[in-house]
Amino acid sequence: MKKNENIILMDKICKSFPLEVGGVQQVLFDISFKVNSGEFVSIMGPSGSGKSTCMNIVGALDTPTSGTYQLYGRDITNMTDDDLAKIRNEYIGFVFQNFNLLSKRSVLDNVMLPLMYRGMSPSERVERARDMLRRVGLEKFETYLPTQLSGGMKQRVAIARALAGDPKLILADEPTGALDSKMGNEILKFFKQLNKEMGITIVMITHEFDIAKYSDRLIHIYDGRINYDGPVPESESALTKKLHRTNK
Ligand code: ADP
Ligand code: MG
Repeated sequence: MKKNENIILMDKICKSFPLEVGGVQQVLFDISFKVNSGEFVSIMGPSGSGKSTCMNIVGALDTPTSGTYQLYGRDITNMTDDDLAKIRNEYIGFVFQNFNLLSKRSVLDNVMLPLMYRGMSPSERVERARDMLRRVGLEKFETYLPTQLSGGMKQRVAIARALAGDPKLILADEPTGALDSKMGNEILKFFKQLNKEMGITIVMITHEFDIAKYSDRLIHIYDGRINYDGPVPESESALTKKLHRTNK
C-alpha cells in the first residue's frame, strides 16, 4: 500500500441500536471522512458521543445501519461475519483501553494469538512473537501472566500482539485511558514512532486533547456528528473555537 492511498472511505455512515422499549437510538449521523495510508488521526469527543461505535465500524467489528464504507478498497457494508474477520485479520491491529489480554495465558501466548490463522508453523509463531516482545522491550517477560505486569506493560503486550499480525492499520480505542500520564506518554510516543518509521496508519480514539496532540489530524465528534476535521489545533481552546455547531 503506497503512502497517501485512501484506505478508509466512510460516506454518510449512520448507526442505530434497537431499544428494549421499542424503537431505536441513533448514535451516528452522516459520518463521512477519509483516511490515507500513513496518517495518524485522532477521533476525539466527549464520553457517549459515539467514538467507540464509530471505531467498531472502522475496524469492521460492526456494520453501519446505512451509508457506505470502503476499507482498503473493499465495501464492507454487506460483508458476512467471516469476510469481516478475514479483512480484520489481514489489515488491522487493535489496541483497547483495557488491554483485552487473556489473563490465564502467558505474555508469549497472548502475542502469538493473531498468528493462529496465518499458516505459520508453531516455531515461526514463537519466533515472531518474541521479535514483537523485543520491539516493545518485554522480551524478558514472555513467561509472565498479564496479571503480573503493570498497566503500561500490559498495554505494551497488547501492542506487540497488534503488531504480530503485521498490520497496515492500528486502531486504538482510548489506549492510555487506564494508564497514568507517564506510561500513557510512553505508549503515545511508541505509536508516533510506529507511524513515522514503519508507516503504519493509526486511528486513535480519545476524549482528551492532550492525547490527540500526538496525532497529525483530529476528527471531533459531538452527539454522533463530526464537527471538526483538520490539523490538530494548537490548544484545546483553539479547538473549541473551531467546532462548528451541530443541530440535532
Ligand atoms: P463513546 O465511545 O464516545 O463514549 P459509544 O460509541 O460507546 O460512545 O456510545 C455512544 C452511544 O451509543 C451511547 O449512548 C451508548 O449507550 C450507545 N451504544 C453504544 N453501543 C451500543 C449497543 N451495542 N447497543 C445500544 N446502545 C449502544
Ligand atoms: Mg468509547
